[in-house]
Amino acid sequence: MALLPILSAPHPVLSAKARKVRPDEFGAELLRLLDDMAETMYAAPGVGLAAPQIGDSRRILVADPGFEGEEGARRKGVDLVYMVNPEIIEASATKIKWEESCLSVPDLSQNVERSDKIVIRFQGADGAEHERSYEGFPAVVMQHELDHLQGVTLLEHSSLLKRTRYLQKQKKKAGGR
Ligand SMILES: [Zn+2]
Repeated sequence: MALLPILSAPHPVLSAKARKVRPDEFGAELLRLLDDMAETMYAAPGVGLAAPQIGDSRRILVADPGFEGEEGARRKGVDLVYMVNPEIIEASATKIKWEESCLSVPDLSQNVERSDKIVIRFQGADGAEHERSYEGFPAVVMQHELDHLQGVTLLEHSSLLKRTRYLQKQKKKAGGR
């Protein structure tokens, strides 16, 4: 397994809509990528990682929404899921608001309103189809990761002023000042 470099916004791959994984792409190589993504997520540490964040513009994500807070370390791996071509097939009208952060948008937190309950249909690394439902914080995590597959980060959920300030700060950092 290997740690993968995580891209920071702004980056064209983070803003692009990811494409579906093709039938011929399932198998051992895809599983290896998912394992590497999980290792990278735990090392960060984070509760989710989408493929565009490591520069791969395909509909792939890993998440372990139980790996959070003081209890998290003990729950590592319990809720770990590998999703290929995930789609939300049900979303509750009831909303939940959470202050979110992102490995690709360091030093920014943003309140985002999401559905409180969702159902996701996805494939595993072997191509088998699954459905899984999430509620509360885990539902927030999954919707955040699914956003990445649409080219949407926390910056798109921020106000224009906040986004502009953030991007100016990143520019300065890149310029070494
Ligand atoms: Zn993120």
